[in-house]
Amino acid sequence: MERNLRNSRKLKKINMSANLRTWIEIDKKAYLHNLEFLKSIFKDTDISSVVKGNAYGHGIEQIVPLAQNAGINYFSVFSLEEACRVHSVKNKDAHLMIMGYIPNDSYEWVIEHDISFFIYEPGDLNKAILAAKKVKKKANIHLELETGMNRTGLDDLNLNKAIKIIKENKNHVNIKGVCTHLAGAESIANHVRIKRQIINYNRQLNQIKKQGCEPEKLHMACSAAAISYPRTRKDLIRTGILQYGFWPSFETRIAFMQKYKHTIDPLRRVLSWKSRVMHIKTVEPGEFISYGTAFFASEKKKIAVVPVGYADGFNRSLSNNGRVLIHGKIASVIGLVNMNMLIADITHINNVKPGDEVVLIGKQKNNIIRVSSFSEFTQQVNYELLTRLPGSIPRIIKN
Ligand SMILES: *Cc1c(COP(=O)(O)O)cnc(C)c1O
Repeated sequence: MERNLRNSRKLKKINMSANLRTWIEIDKKAYLHNLEFLKSIFKDTDISSVVKGNAYGHGIEQIVPLAQNAGINYFSVFSLEEACRVHSVKNKDAHLMIMGYIPNDSYEWVIEHDISFFIYEPGDLNKAILAAKKVKKKANIHLELETGMNRTGLDDLNLNKAIKIIKENKNHVNIKGVCTHLAGAESIANHVRIKRQIINYNRQLNQIKKQGCEPEKLHMACSAAAISYPRTRKDLIRTGILQYGFWPSFETRIAFMQKYKHTIDPLRRVLSWKSRVMHIKTVEPGEFISYGTAFFASEKKKIAVVPVGYADGFNRSLSNNGRVLIHGKIASVIGLVNMNMLIADITHINNVKPGDEVVLIGKQKNNIIRVSSFSEFTQQVNYELLTRLPGSIPRIIKN
């Protein structure tokens, strides 16, 4: 019975991707492995899973339930839209925090649903209090401090204004947290600036406490800071990139390996991007392939057309440059990447048939296309490449 059930589930899964032109696979085991790893090195602090940018391209609706089942109770997003999506899949106990922009007319919804949010402007605090009165619930805020990033955040003057407003409206505001964001903890080049930010944070925090306010949680660390500056871990870390199996930078990876005496990378990549062969043909020597003169066939070529193009986020600068995997072998992208198609050279691969799986990112047999190798050609950082993977590509969880 159980076996049948498992088989039918498996069938369903295969059928799901069988009818797709392109899809993204989420490796559940790898993701859970990463969470366990994070919990093991960040033992004494809560972990907020940062799922902005569609969970770094992995899919909010796929990642949030997996994280919750693994015991993650905090989630962070940038925008209201992302908050709505997390809210619709999270369970009741999980805390949700908006670190960025809230439109004026949305504070009521946010407060009504117990979502906490950053305050970086005293004016927004007034709007929030007005909304809190209306919905008869306290606004849960995090005072975001300007410590040296020079982006959002309350400087000393605005912090004092905010504290005054809070004290006058004690029944309508809860100080859930006091936080800041560090300006590039992934690079030693910013070391002095980061140190100064930590000092500024502590100074401003004292100012807040002196005025009789007691925040529930202190937080300032992103992934890189949590690893390279353990003092920044405080009560909660906001970790994005690590949970998806990527290091914020090569430097952070080296720092970790040294500090924790690891010799192998403890993180596992979670995301693969796949498609399938659409069409196969042979091109005679002396012909150009695809638009214009970008690729000249100096010898007889066998090519596979793959139905993925720059409209799907396969960067046009990968023209004549990118690589994909077919039958576990590396196939070069030849000619220009089109809007909806790319062409792979399969002259050296036997028996390729329409419908065969193509790997754009990820593993196939013994070969692997890494996000980082992908980025080498496009000058994109991991973060950018992942978050730009279109939300319209279906995400499938691989058990
Ligand atoms: C994106 C973001 C994080 C997470 O950064 P990672 O490097 O992915 O860990 C943390 N805090 C803030 C304010 C952010 O915007």
